[in-house]
Formats: sequence, structure tokens, C-alpha cells
Amino acid sequence: MPFEMVRNDITRMNVDAIVNAANRSLLGGGGVDGAIHRAAGPELLEECRTLGGCETGEAKITKGYRLPARYVIHTVGPVWHGGTNGEKELLSACYRHSLELAAENGCESVAFPMISAGAYGYPKDQALAVAVDAITAFLLDHEMTVYLVIFGHDELITGKKLFRDIREYIDDIYAEKHFHANIEHSRRRRWQEDEESALQLDMEISKSIADQACYGAAPVPSAVPKEAASMPDWKELLKQTDEGFSQALLRLIDERGWTDAQCYKKANVDRKLFSKIRSNPDYRPSKPTALAFAVALELSMRETKELLKKAGFSLTKSSKFDLVLEYCINHKIYNIYEINEVLFRFDLPLLGSGMN
Ligand code: ADP
Repeated sequence: MPFEMVRNDITRMNVDAIVNAANRSLLGGGGVDGAIHRAAGPELLEECRTLGGCETGEAKITKGYRLPARYVIHTVGPVWHGGTNGEKELLSACYRHSLELAAENGCESVAFPMISAGAYGYPKDQALAVAVDAITAFLLDHEMTVYLVIFGHDELITGKKLFRDIREYIDDIYAEKHFHANIEHSRRRRWQEDEESALQLDMEISKSIADQACYGAAPVPSAVPKEAASMPDWKELLKQTDEGFSQALLRLIDERGWTDAQCYKKANVDRKLFSKIRSNPDYRPSKPTALAFAVALELSMRETKELLKKAGFSLTKSSKFDLVLEYCINHKIYNIYEINEVLFRFDLPLLGSGMN
């Protein structure tokens, strides 16, 4: 997927370039800088000595040496001074300049740490928002896979409002399910305690349901001749077959007057995968991919369910992933990166996809 948040140690990322949150001397430091130098070996420091330092917001490139990544892009994030000293613009420039340098050097995949979010004191949620905005703006006119590497589980403990709202919504649904499970439990207990009376009650309930069904029932269809029932008109049936996922997707894009690129970029799906979907009318996407398109196309809940059905999926109340999507679609939250941030915090699969 073009943009993905992952939990990892950046020195292990198998990408063309990793980005280092360096200091202005470029001669090594603590945090992610120290980890990258340790993993790359002493040759990295030797090359860094030749670079003459780096200004805040700028970026410089070296080889990756013993790292799995071919290159290290060193950028210097701003130190947090309360947010009124141009920190946001400087942090955004770090991402933009690093990505431009990566593109100039032919990189197709790049991994960033959360620049400035450690020793430099940038509040983590704000640092994350700047990272997401800068990366996704760059991806609007570049084809690249960009990872934002989150280090450790407590990096994003505090959540923004959307995350808290959705967590509350999910808790409510779970509480409701628990309530129903409790009713079922006491019914079973009562059955054991008083088999006779419970049987009586169950019979009464079944009878009243049957009565209702009878009175409200539709007329029973007249019997179909046996021969006709066993020999369906295949030609007719095939004509009625619904359009597949791929056809439906292309139709929805046309109806909006969008280009393909507008849609797949909004869906966080890479170009190669989209071409595959376009050229194969029988393409079956994964559930996160199908939902990524539903979100990108800003479908209603009913339309989302229809599109999902074409890919062989449905939404259920027992899946946390489905509940997050249901909440967002019902509240018309159609920014895929905002949704992915919530999914990420819940450790759930993210929306979008790529060929790799
Ligand atoms: P800065 O000085 O720019 O704040 P730090 O290295 O102190 O840089 O922290 C930047 C971010 O990198 C923090 O979010 C920190 O948790 C994270 N980090 C530290 N070590 C690693 C690592 N090995 N891989 C990925 N991220 C890391």
C-alpha cells in the first residue's frame, strides 16, 4: 500500500531508504540515530563526516552500509519550543525534502521514524499528524511506498478524539452483546433448575412466534412443475448475473467523473494493483481493499454493503475491524489516513493495498 504505518525497529526495514532523525552535526547521537549508526557500522559515520552537517528541515543522503536499506537519508527535525517557532513547517519540510531526495535517487520504498517525536520533544500526536499530511501530500503526485515506523507499543497511547469516540462505540456494542449473552446464560441456568417450567415457557414462546408467522405469512407459491425446477434457464440466469466488483468499481468512478488515479490514490491502493483490478473483471480484492474503495468513493452504508457483497464479504458486529468501518462510514468519515490511524491504534489491518 502506498502509505502504511508499521510497528518495527527501523534498522530492520527492508526498503530502498530509511530516514534518520539526525542532529545538525550528522555525527551520530542517541535514539533512532544511535540505533541506525550501530546497525550500519562505522563506515556510515565516516561518510557523514564528509557532509558538513545539515540544517534543520533539510536532508542529506548516504549509503546504508550494513543495513538492509540501500540508503540512509539524514534529516534534522526541529526541537519543540511550544509550537510557535515554525516547528510545524520545519517538520513538514523534513518529510518533503527526504522524500524528494529519495525520489531523485530512484527509491521506490522509504521508511521514516517519527521525526522530532523523541528527544526533540514534539508532542507525538501532533508529530504524527504532520508526518501523515506531508507524506500523503507527496504521494499525490509520486508513486512510492512510504512507511511510517512506530517504535514500541506505548508510542501512541494517547488518542485523538476520533479514536476515543470509536473505542466508546465498540465498548458499548460489546457491553450490549455481553448483556444478551447474560440473558442467555440465566435462561440456561433456569432450565437446569426448573426443567419443567422452562420447557413450558419455551413452548409458549415458540407457539406465539409460530402464530405470528402464520398470520403475517405471504401466500405459499404454487408448486413449480418438477421438470422446470430441475432445468434452470442458464442463459437467462447468466444474463441476470450481477456486475462483478471490478465492473462496479469502474462504473462508480465514471459516475463521479473521476480519473482512475484520483480514485486509487484516495483509496491508498497502488497503481499496479489498480491496473490488475481494471484488467480482470473477475478480480476478487481482499476485504481491506474493497473497503478502501468504498471509503474513497464515499459510499453510504447501504452502497458499501453492496460493493462488499460483490467481493464476497459482509460486515458483522462481532468484528472490531468492521465496527470501526461501520462507525466511520455512518459518520461520513472518509479520510482513509484518519481511519488507518484509528485501525493502527487498535492493531487492526489497515485500508488500502499494494502488490508487494
Ligand atoms: P528526535 O531527536 O528527532 O526526537 P529520537 O531518536 O529521539 O529523535 O526519536 C524519534 C522517534 O524515533 C521517536 O518516536 C522514537 O521512539 C523513535 N525511535 C527510536 N528508536 C527507533 C528505532 N530503532 N526504530 C524506529 N523508531 C525509533
